[in-house]
Amino acid sequence: MIKRHPGRTGIFFHYQQGERLRDFPKALSPVLAKDNVFLYDALYDHKPASAFDLNPISIETLHKVHSRTMVEQILSSNAFEGALYSASGTVSAGERIFSGEIDNAFVFTGYGDHHAGSNFFGGGCYFNGAAIAIHELRKKFGTQRFAIIDTDAHHGDGTWEIFQNNSDVLYICFCTSSFYEQNYNVNIQVPHHTDNTSYLALVKNAFQDWVRPFQPELIFWNWGYDGTIGDYGDLGLTPQVHQKLAEEFKEIAHEICRDRLIVILCGGSRRDLATRIIPEIINVLAD
Ligand SMILES: [Zn+2]
Ligand SMILES: [Zn+2]
Repeated sequence: MIKRHPGRTGIFFHYQQGERLRDFPKALSPVLAKDNVFLYDALYDHKPASAFDLNPISIETLHKVHSRTMVEQILSSNAFEGALYSASGTVSAGERIFSGEIDNAFVFTGYGDHHAGSNFFGGGCYFNGAAIAIHELRKKFGTQRFAIIDTDAHHGDGTWEIFQNNSDVLYICFCTSSFYEQNYNVNIQVPHHTDNTSYLALVKNAFQDWVRPFQPELIFWNWGYDGTIGDYGDLGLTPQVHQKLAEEFKEIAHEICRDRLIVILCGGSRRDLATRIIPEIINVLAD
């Protein structure tokens, strides 16, 4: 096997309340010691000094994907700031990848993506960061083809709705709903109780059958760990599956889209799992 240079990995982080990320950014110390890992962080509460600032996207940008009514509703809730910075991290990651500053990224979110549609939200999701990033990257870099691969335990109804009439975006959702394919929106059925080996095989097959022939220019990985044993979407997966998934995603991104991969933190509630698995995934990205 040919030895590759390690890519440059960006970590996009905003400071937020809440249990699952209580150990961050402290738990990133070992991975941040690497020369090829950069932290982009945002003022949210009390932010330590940093060389790379994460700036929020504008309200007009949110309107490109979400209805005015929906944005108004979120704006008046106390989740707005966290939701805005979550989506901003994904947009910034995409822009820095296409401008050549970094190769891949891990985006911390307070609120995830995949239950946020053009005019509805729920299940801890407010804005669809991947959809907003796709809009911005098309505008700024002319990028056409994207893949969003969703290994959160639940069905991504928001992402599905946004891209159901868009054949330039391949959306693959792994969840317990039946197989369904419509205009490059693909639902891959996962049994209610599975194991690491079977799950990894499903993912590899989907790469082979859908992602490779589609030839996206960038892959978004909606990564949730809620399907891990003991979390709220328990599918029977053990914590080890996530590092293996990260290796597979990194490899496919290397083979087909010049390493361009953005990992977006989605579901999962356990603090111990976050503290253990997130640095493992970032290590794979930066290796
Ligand atoms: Zn979920
Ligand atoms: Zn699904």
